Amino acid sequence: MDLKNTNYEYFINNEYKKCEFCGQKLTPKGLDYLYTNITPKSIKYERCNCKLSQEYWKNKDAEQYKIDKRNYYKNIINKIYKDNYLNRKLSNYSFENFIVNKNNKNEVEILKDYLKKCLENKQEKGMIITGNFGTGKTHLASAITNKMIENGQVVLMGRLSFLLDMIKETYYDKEKSDKELIELYSNIEMLIIDDLGMETISNWALEKLYSIVENRNENKLPIIITTKFNKNNLLERLKECKDKSLAEAIISKLYLMCYGVNLKK
Ligand SMILES: [Zn+2]
Repeated sequence: MDLKNTNYEYFINNEYKKCEFCGQKLTPKGLDYLYTNITPKSIKYERCNCKLSQEYWKNKDAEQYKIDKRNYYKNIINKIYKDNYLNRKLSNYSFENFIVNKNNKNEVEILKDYLKKCLENKQEKGMIITGNFGTGKTHLASAITNKMIENGQVVLMGRLSFLLDMIKETYYDKEKSDKELIELYSNIEMLIIDDLGMETISNWALEKLYSIVENRNENKLPIIITTKFNKNNLLERLKECKDKSLAEAIISKLYLMCYGVNLKK
């Protein structure tokens, strides 16, 4: 064997990497380091167990976990929204192409201000946007969605039935689907439920909505609701399902965790 062409020589002449915190020599992982042609940079080392190193890796792992989770959510969302008409239509809406008049200019300013904090990931409160048909609720909610997506944040927007059904379809394992669905909606940076109260909500959907609202509140993540109903009418709509106390719990929680704007024509 010609040692000159192997990494053997490298390891004979060079020292292993040292822990940058305590200076202790690190142990290479496995036997990869003995392979020929391996570059020193690609050698993996065992982690040092000194205090500073442990702290460093704890933070590093937490960071990586966050990134992995985000990518995981992004992948699911990309899969769901591929070729979806609703999303494409809404993607053209912005604050720039919203028609501002004297009756809505204050509300538009409030929403712009609200968005600012969302873009910095500092918005903990949600927003309930009410207004009759044609006042631009969906347009403005989409404008917020689009800006956040542009900013690299993970956002989902749609009607409740659409949001729940679309994700349900991506799983085959019933047991798994519920859990993952709730987790996804509970952890993404923004969730926008469009036109709440317009469709009949099943008990199943109401239960999911309750968990999502509760989790987002605990996770200090905002939610946006658009609806043409005021608080009482929305409650009446949700109460049409079997579980009336659940409907009440959702409405009171939502109103506690959200600001509100009312759009006029
Ligand atoms: Zn160390």
